[in-house]
Amino acid sequence: MKITFPHLGNTYICVKPLLDELNIDCIIPPFNNREALELGTRHAPECCCLPLKINIGNYLQAYKKGADTILMAGGCGPCRFGYYCELQREILEDMGIDMKIIVLEAPYGNVWELVRRIVKLTGAFNLPKIIWAFKNASRIAISVDKLEKLCFKIRPRELNKGETDGVYKKFRTEALSVKGFRGMEKHIAKTFDELNSIKMNKSIEPLKIGIVGEIYTTVDSNTNFNIEARLGNLGIQVDRSVTVSGWIVEHMIKKALPLPRDMEFAKAAYPYLGAMIGGHARETVGNTVLYAKNNYDGIIQIYPLTCMPEIVAESILPAVEKDYDIPVMTLIIDEMTGEAGYMTRVEAFADLLESRRNKNTGQKAGFDLTLRSGNI
Ligand code: SF4
Repeated sequence: MKITFPHLGNTYICVKPLLDELNIDCIIPPFNNREALELGTRHAPECCCLPLKINIGNYLQAYKKGADTILMAGGCGPCRFGYYCELQREILEDMGIDMKIIVLEAPYGNVWELVRRIVKLTGAFNLPKIIWAFKNASRIAISVDKLEKLCFKIRPRELNKGETDGVYKKFRTEALSVKGFRGMEKHIAKTFDELNSIKMNKSIEPLKIGIVGEIYTTVDSNTNFNIEARLGNLGIQVDRSVTVSGWIVEHMIKKALPLPRDMEFAKAAYPYLGAMIGGHARETVGNTVLYAKNNYDGIIQIYPLTCMPEIVAESILPAVEKDYDIPVMTLIIDEMTGEAGYMTRVEAFADLLESRRNKNTGQKAGFDLTLRSGNI
């Protein structure tokens, strides 16, 4: 059995050592790229959401490299993610691609069914080892998210422009060949040291933008045209509350066990959206409120075209914008999105935030116009 799994940002950095430790051969698809999107777009129904199309591209690219089994997370609820497994199975079948799909979920809260699927994957019933492996994979995911947040902080302050990007890119590429938890922990620790040695101008107070929206398009930098790094290189500090580790720990593990979850975003969203409507719509609304309360300068919402939960969130955000006096911009991504137009909107939004800060406080935010995408 040769396992593959779809990309979702840095998920591969915790899934690969997990599979290594469980002695499962895995084939990681190439990082998300134009070819994966084009392959998926060719074979998936037109109105499917973008993540499904890229997933199909990932599977086909991994299949070419010898993968025969797909490992994916499952979901239920009022959005299309619950249908991803069946839909993907049918698309691959129609193409004559012989790949099995194992879905990691506890259907209707049935944790034993989840254990049965993991045993099918590992080929042996060794519960302590399985628990140990999943605990360590979650720890790795948490560390990688911390590392990513450190990059968000350093980029706008670094003295040698591009240094953070260099370290982070090397970290991601080298992670592909690191084996096991111990190897990955060392790799992460080394990267923390490298990032902490980058020289910064600590006196500047950069503009702060909160990124909210659908998880795939916010977390996956290859899909969102690397927006977080590009804003950082413009001299803007970003933050994103929805993370890979949050999804694994809060959404998958705590929900399956079941354990109490951190619902601060839901409380913040409640006056505007009182129920779970699928995807991350409540997180989008709630985190926008929380960023506004924490004095962020603006919010960017990102989502794939036709994403139902985010369309609802988008219709609510003008009320939050008005109540908290915080500018919100929405970016919608699909296979037709052009990078130049997308970045022009991002830069125009940053200009607006800069002039608002000047007007309101008389302060310059240090937003660097010479680093616009056209000049980098
Ligand atoms: S959250 Fe949106 S993009 Fe993600 S599966 Fe649901 S409908 Fe599709």
